[in-house]
Amino acid sequence: MQWSDDAEAAIKKVPLFVRKRVRVRVEKEAIARGKKIVTLAEVKATQARYLKKQGHEIKGYQVGRCFGSSGCPNRAIISDNLVEKIEALFKDADILGFLRQTVAGDLKFHHEFRVALADCPNACSQPQIKDIGIIGAAIPDVTDAACSNCEACVDECREDAVQLPESGEGPLIDYQRCLSCGRCMAVCPTGTLATGQSGYRVQLGGKLGRHPRLARELPGIFTEEQVLDIIRDCIALYKKKSTGGARFAEILSEKDFVGAGPCACPKSLS
Ligand code: SF4
Ligand code: SF4
Ligand code: SF4
Repeated sequence: MQWSDDAEAAIKKVPLFVRKRVRVRVEKEAIARGKKIVTLAEVKATQARYLKKQGHEIKGYQVGRCFGSSGCPNRAIISDNLVEKIEALFKDADILGFLRQTVAGDLKFHHEFRVALADCPNACSQPQIKDIGIIGAAIPDVTDAACSNCEACVDECREDAVQLPESGEGPLIDYQRCLSCGRCMAVCPTGTLATGQSGYRVQLGGKLGRHPRLARELPGIFTEEQVLDIIRDCIALYKKKSTGGARFAEILSEKDFVGAGPCACPKSLS
């Protein structure tokens, strides 16, 4: 839908954590009124209505995702149903009921527990600033298939993580640099580079606000089931320790990361 310049400028001033919701609402209400262009007056009216009623809109958690499922070619993993499974965990845990019991006064959007899923390390859904960030990952394996030395993998890797030795023995991957984006395997015409382990990276404890913090990554690549286990444990930890609306980042301690790994991680958070 088309937006006037001043309407665009106004929506950019809406706090980031509600901007997307307000934008969707503005367009929905404009369409309902038969408008083809969103003007400043409509933004202001919708924004005022929306913020006034935010207590009714809060569900206790937000699970966002990137636009990978719309056909983005960069996806490192297909994760179409994971968001629904994560939402079910939060619903079953009655996070909204928990917040109502532990937060004095009206609930605000900033009290909600936030999760973001990105299907590749480009991280368009900003998982680094969410309570739990999940990033699709695919690690390259070097197979026995003969390499043609076409250099497509070297050209594709933005991390300089692929080298082709002059000896012609095939590609070498620097796994310290590799971000598990899966691009080199996608362009390899010979199958010399193939997908090895694939799954998700998990980051915990990111937030914006007065004391912003980037989420900290658990070591390892996790399967979908392991991701769900980690989230279950994070919810349990949050409900055990959070009081007065304290964000997940504020209740995490160093020991919550000790021993983290594909198997040990869920235990380390319990
Ligand atoms: S995070 Fe990656 S897969 Fe998702 S929309 Fe961005 S570029 Fe595409
Ligand atoms: S998976 Fe991505 S970051 Fe890793 S080597 Fe391949 S292109 Fe580079
Ligand atoms: S590993 Fe694949 S993409 Fe890279 S140079 Fe060899 S054939 Fe080309």
